[in-house]
Amino acid sequence: MARRKTTLTVLRTEALTPHMQRVYLGDPGFEDFEPVDYTDSYVKLAFGPEDDEIKRTYTIRSVDQDAREVAIDFVVHGDEGVAGPWAANAKPGDTIGLYGPNGAYKPRADADWHLFAGDESAIPAISAAVEALPEDAIAKVFVEVADRKDEIYMETLALVDVTWIHRGAGSNEVSEDKAGDNAPLIDAVRRTEWLPGQVQVFIHGEAQAVMHNLRSYVRKERGVPAEWASISGYWRRGRTEENFRVWKRELAEAEAGSNA
Ligand SMILES: Cc1cc2nc3c(=O)[nH]c(=O)nc-3n(C[C@H](O)[C@H](O)[C@H](O)COP(=O)(O)OP(=O)(O)OC[C@H]3O[C@@H](n4cnc5c(N)ncnc54)[C@H](O)[C@@H]3O)c2cc1C
Repeated sequence: MARRKTTLTVLRTEALTPHMQRVYLGDPGFEDFEPVDYTDSYVKLAFGPEDDEIKRTYTIRSVDQDAREVAIDFVVHGDEGVAGPWAANAKPGDTIGLYGPNGAYKPRADADWHLFAGDESAIPAISAAVEALPEDAIAKVFVEVADRKDEIYMETLALVDVTWIHRGAGSNEVSEDKAGDNAPLIDAVRRTEWLPGQVQVFIHGEAQAVMHNLRSYVRKERGVPAEWASISGYWRRGRTEENFRVWKRELAEAEAGSNA
């Protein structure tokens, strides 16, 4: 469902890691922001003039009603693009338009265990989900980042086993032999022991690694039904978000054709 546009103001920024910049947004504008009850709650950020907006999709990492602020964590991926460079250079007093939030996922209490996997772009959604797990939940988390300096502490009450996978460079800088079909995240997830009982899966990140590798592993080889699996690409190597939307549409059409 399309949601109305709100405009928030940059309050401050914080470099969480060499490749992750947190931007806190708030007043003027906070009263217009209506949170939704999903841990993968996301907005479309609007850049440029109103009649020619460029939109980029970002997870709401957290909402603090007392402080009247929203945090969004942006992957810093060089000078290319709109949103990444905007976040790297954001200053208090800058404003930004947001459509949403919408959302689709939150951890289910009836799952026996949870599997989370992704790259830097999924850290905000994975962190929010892990934070929301109750004490008796069990989870395995796999996150691919450049190196140790990009690891982020994940707060939780649950029994959570976090594995950081180091590819050796930022997601935009890494060579082909460690990206896409060769992303080390794929092997790490495939190698992990599958726990007994019903798993709920949340896997997001670079689309080639996720859609052409991890999705088929989880859905076909492990037989996880669609209602227990939130799996999609968040971005695509070598494509802007507009071109990535074209790629997603073509993939969906090809899959619909092969199922017909
Ligand atoms: C539901 C959802 C939630 C998301 N949440 C987040 C979030 O919380 N934080 C976040 O950082 N991203 C998130 N993303 C991914 C984000 O929307 C894309 O990375 C987006 O393309 C960034 O826009 P941009 O203007 O910076 O770069 P674009 O103009 O879209 O792309 C420019 C170039 O940068 C490359 N690029 C884009 N993203 C990355 C990246 N992550 N790493 C390396 N290279 C990249 C592209 O391949 C392209 O070559 C989310 C996506 C979805 C669908």
